[in-house]
Amino acid sequence: MKRYSVFAVAREALRNHQGWDRAWAKADPKPRYDAIVVGAGGHGLASAYYLGRNHGITNVAVIEKGWLGGGNTGRNTTIIRSNYLQDPSAAIYEKSRSLYETLSQDLNYNIMFSPRGVMMLAQTQHEVRGYLRTAHANALQGVATEFIGPERVKELVPIIDTNGPRYPVLGALWQPRAGTARHDAVAWGYARACSAMGMDIIQNCEVTGIRREGGKVTGVETTKGAIGCDRLGIVVAGHSSQLADMAGFRLPIESVALQALVSEPIKPCMDVVVMANTVHGYLSQSDKGEMVIGGGTDGFNNYTQRGSWHHIEETVRALVETFPMLSRLKMLRQWGGIVDMTGDRSPIISKTPVEGVFVNCGWGTGGFKAIPGSGWAMAELMAKGASPLAEEFSMFRFREGKFIDESVAAGVAH
Ligand SMILES: Cc1cc2nc3c(=O)[nH]c(=O)nc-3n(C[C@H](O)[C@H](O)[C@H](O)COP(=O)(O)OP(=O)(O)OC[C@H]3O[C@@H](n4cnc5c(N)ncnc54)[C@H](O)[C@@H]3O)c2cc1C
Repeated sequence: MKRYSVFAVAREALRNHQGWDRAWAKADPKPRYDAIVVGAGGHGLASAYYLGRNHGITNVAVIEKGWLGGGNTGRNTTIIRSNYLQDPSAAIYEKSRSLYETLSQDLNYNIMFSPRGVMMLAQTQHEVRGYLRTAHANALQGVATEFIGPERVKELVPIIDTNGPRYPVLGALWQPRAGTARHDAVAWGYARACSAMGMDIIQNCEVTGIRREGGKVTGVETTKGAIGCDRLGIVVAGHSSQLADMAGFRLPIESVALQALVSEPIKPCMDVVVMANTVHGYLSQSDKGEMVIGGGTDGFNNYTQRGSWHHIEETVRALVETFPMLSRLKMLRQWGGIVDMTGDRSPIISKTPVEGVFVNCGWGTGGFKAIPGSGWAMAELMAKGASPLAEEFSMFRFREGKFIDESVAAGVAH
């Protein structure tokens, strides 16, 4: 596959862009692979990529029931940060954030990583104490964050009203090297790199069953026929319980829709990401100028990938208190994605009761930021049977009571 470079752009400009290769090859399933990854979202594609890059396993298929990147990876609000409270979380999210720093160069694909800074507003005394605690924890973990006062918040985000009527801004947890990346490009970049290593990305192919013999995986049944494998990675986010059911075990996962919306495009007015957990909303401005607005999850479990009216109203009403200028904007579109929630709001990267089957899920409302680190750990687990980054994220922690509680610390964990 030809490398993308400034010379390639110049060359193709001169010959009317007739010489570009397809970004990834169209593939039909082979009878057997060394490893199969189900789900061509960011996490599945990254798992396959690091299987090849770090462990030399390239006889791999990534099987996707729809189109690659069409799940949560293509529906999220792209916040990348690593300011978590617990040590195992900080380790994997910081690994991920640091991989994002050079991901465009690693993949030879511009994923538009923008380390513009993320701030989490403290709008109650309880939040002030909580974020001071996180800032101290981050200092010990080697994650660069700081607690800043309202004046600095106003300096960084001039459109904010720090003296709001109900919840004045008392400060913020600020991570200067956190930010955003282009979500589709992350999936496309990994897909292209996987394809370049000879892996098969098989789209429009749903996994409908998991074959086992003597407690060990032997392959999958799909809408394009049966495919054999020795190792199977289940990386399907909100559909993880369905795949676990096919493999004969249960996961502590609830599936629920999370919604987001964007406004009409406006001139640049905010160059950081702001999360307001007390009023429950978060905001950034896309390169096109749209205000990207994230809200909360639906109050009931469901599989609908849709938005709803009351969510727009609740989210925008909450944010208008702190960002009065939003009240003048027209909202352009809204959508939802099916996120996979665990009880402690931490992910699962784990072996399972079926030998050769591994599961990566439970990233809930905040897994986009984790894609490179999660793929790195999942690949190591699938290749070697253990990964230091994944050790604490076993699915069996719920049986043993070894929770990694990020629910209270994170508020909304995007
Ligand atoms: C509205 C919204 C906002 C969000 N905002 C943020 C944010 O700002 N920052 C952040 O870090 N995270 C955010 N997230 C969470 C983040 O999007 C997810 O955690 C992450 O994208 C999950 O990636 P994934 O690869 O695991 O799943 P997905 O991208 O959902 O990929 C799973 C794939 O598996 C496929 N699949 C399912 N069943 C089968 C089957 N039987 N056979 C074959 N394929 C199957 C699906 O079609 C899908 O493509 C947000 C999510 C939503 C919905």
